[in-house]
Amino acid sequence: MEADQQALLHTAATRLKQAVPLMLKHRIPTTPTNYALWYTYVGEQQPALNAAMDKVLAEHRTCPPSNSELLYREHLGDSMAVDLCAMRRNLDAMVTELSQSLKDTHTDANQFQSRIDSNFSKLEQLEREEFTLDKMLELVRSMAKESDAIRTSTSYFTRQLNKAQQEIEALKVRLAASEKDILFDALTGCLNRRAFDADLRATLEQAPEGTCLVLCDIDHFKIFNDTYGHQLGDQVLKAVAKRLMEGCRDGAKVYRCGGEEFAILIPARDQAIARQLAEVLRRGLEKLSLKDRKSGNTINNVTASFGVSSWREGMSLMELIDAADIQLYDAKRLGRNRVMPMAG
Ligand code: GH3
Ligand code: MG
Ligand code: MG
Repeated sequence: MEADQQALLHTAATRLKQAVPLMLKHRIPTTPTNYALWYTYVGEQQPALNAAMDKVLAEHRTCPPSNSELLYREHLGDSMAVDLCAMRRNLDAMVTELSQSLKDTHTDANQFQSRIDSNFSKLEQLEREEFTLDKMLELVRSMAKESDAIRTSTSYFTRQLNKAQQEIEALKVRLAASEKDILFDALTGCLNRRAFDADLRATLEQAPEGTCLVLCDIDHFKIFNDTYGHQLGDQVLKAVAKRLMEGCRDGAKVYRCGGEEFAILIPARDQAIARQLAEVLRRGLEKLSLKDRKSGNTINNVTASFGVSSWREGMSLMELIDAADIQLYDAKRLGRNRVMPMAG
C-alpha cells in the first residue's frame, strides 16, 4: 500500500514536471481545467485527447479557451459534472416518488375493490337475513367513505404528478441551459459572443501573430423580418450560421456576435488567406435558398458584407476589431455583398 502510494505520487510529480513546461511553452493559462487537460495529455493514456489536442495546437499554436473547454468536456467529463449529477439525482428521486404514489393509488384501488366486494356480500347477507334500515344505512355510509378515500388519493396523486412534471420540465431547461449557454448561441448553435471575447483575448495575449478577424453582417436583414416575420428572420439566421460553419476550414471558427452579425477568427498570418475564406463564405451565402412555409415564397436573396483585418505588431484587441469594422462599413457603403479590403 505504502509502495503503491509512493508510486502514484511519483507518477503525479513526473507528469506535472512534464505538463507545466508544455503549458508555458504553449502559453496556456494555469486554470484547473487546463491542468487536468495537460496532466492527462502528458500521461498519454487517452490517445483521442492527444490527437485532438495536437490538431488544435497545429492550427492555433496554443489552445484557445473554448477549445480547452470542449476538449475537457469531451475527454475528461463535464466541468459541471457535480451540478449535473445533483440534478440527475433530483430527477431520479422524483421518478421514484412518482412511481411510489402510483403504487399507493393502485393499492388503494385494490383495497377499495375488496371492500366493495365485502360490502356487496354483506348486502346479499342482509337480503337473506333481517333487512333493517339501520344496517342498510351503515352499509351505504361505509361505501361512501371508501369512495371518498379513493377520490382523495387520486386527486393527491394527480397533484403530485403535475408538480413533479413541472419540476422535471424546469430541471430539463436548467440542464440544457447549463450545458450549452456557456459557449454556444441558442438559436444558431454556433459559438457565442462570450466565447468570442474569451478566444480573441487569449489569442492576442498568447499568440497574436497570425490572427485574422472577419466580421460578417447580413445585408438588409431587417427587410426579411419586416416582410416575412421574425420567425422567418430566425430561420435565415440559422441557415446563414450553418453555411458559415460548414465553410470554415483549418481552425477557422464562427461566432455569433450580435443580432445578425458574425465573427470568424482565422489562425492565418497572411490576410489574403482570410480574404479568400471570406470570399468563399460570401459566395456560399449568395447561393442560400430557403422556403418560407407561411407564404410559400422561396428566399434566395440572402447576402452579407464582410470586413477583414489582421493583427499587426502592437495592435490591441479593440484595434483589431475596429480595423475589421471599418472594412465592413466600407463594404456596406460600396453596395454590400462584398469583402473588404479588396485583394491587392
Ligand atoms: P444593413 O445591410 O445595413 O446591415 O441592414 P440591416 O437591416 O441588416 O441592419 P439593421 O441593423 O438595421 O437591422 C438588423 C435587424 O436584425 C434589426 C433586428 O430586429 C434584427 N435582429 C436582431 N437579432 C435578431 C434575431 O435574433 N432574430 C431576428 N429575427 N431578428 C433579429
Ligand atoms: Mg448589423
Ligand atoms: Mg445587417
